[in-house]
Amino acid sequence: MTVRVRDLLLGLRDLRLANAPVIVHSSLKAFGQVEGGAVTVVSTLAAVFDTVIVPTFTYRTMITPLTGPENNGITYGSLQDQNQMAEFFTLRTPVDPLMGTIPEMFRKHPRAKRSNHPIQSFAGINAEIILAAQTMTDHLAPLGLLEKADGWALLMGVDHTVNTSIHYAEKLAGRRQFIRWALTPKGVVECPGFPGCSAGFQAIAADMEKFTRQVQIGGALIQAVPLKMLFKVVVARIKKDPLALLCQQEDCERCNAIRNQ
Ligand SMILES: [Zn+2]
Repeated sequence: MTVRVRDLLLGLRDLRLANAPVIVHSSLKAFGQVEGGAVTVVSTLAAVFDTVIVPTFTYRTMITPLTGPENNGITYGSLQDQNQMAEFFTLRTPVDPLMGTIPEMFRKHPRAKRSNHPIQSFAGINAEIILAAQTMTDHLAPLGLLEKADGWALLMGVDHTVNTSIHYAEKLAGRRQFIRWALTPKGVVECPGFPGCSAGFQAIAADMEKFTRQVQIGGALIQAVPLKMLFKVVVARIKKDPLALLCQQEDCERCNAIRNQ
């Protein structure tokens, strides 16, 4: 069954988020067939919500140096081939393919603006103040403003392993952050405050279930997660267990850096 604009409109309105701002994480494939593809999803988001932001991260700008600070969840001197291929960040740099096709379409929307962090930029519609909060030392600050405005994270056919807002809550809980480096037209710049790994984040789903609103659109389960409650729950969980929400992969450098500190 093909998903049409009407299905998207009715489904998203069913979440009853009124005028609350949202951050959207999405998988186009999860819907099955969508008439008009990613453009349809982006146009519908812009029509339903007053303020929308999406992560438009660009990992291809990253540089791995030969040396650097200790316990930084990184193998210095590795990925030298990728260094050779690294691209300068500009506002037109395409979104990393790992994030899906919807963010790439979203940043090209005529009403969308983009922030200029070289690795972790966001694009937003009607979100100038939220995007302007981002700095090189506090690049997740837009999520703090979203929370203060009673915003929601919208997971469209994806789970908490891509829920960037959990990284903001990790930082609030005092969890270690990392340093990464990116190539920009001004040279290689240091990007502090880089978050840990998100592969273990789905473990928060059970705690958040009673606060989460859900609708089904085509093949995609759409979940709306209130940021205020999400931050509260994640912070409480990490305060109780400093290793909460880490992944189980033995060779995960960032999760191990947190375990070994
Ligand atoms: Zn991990």
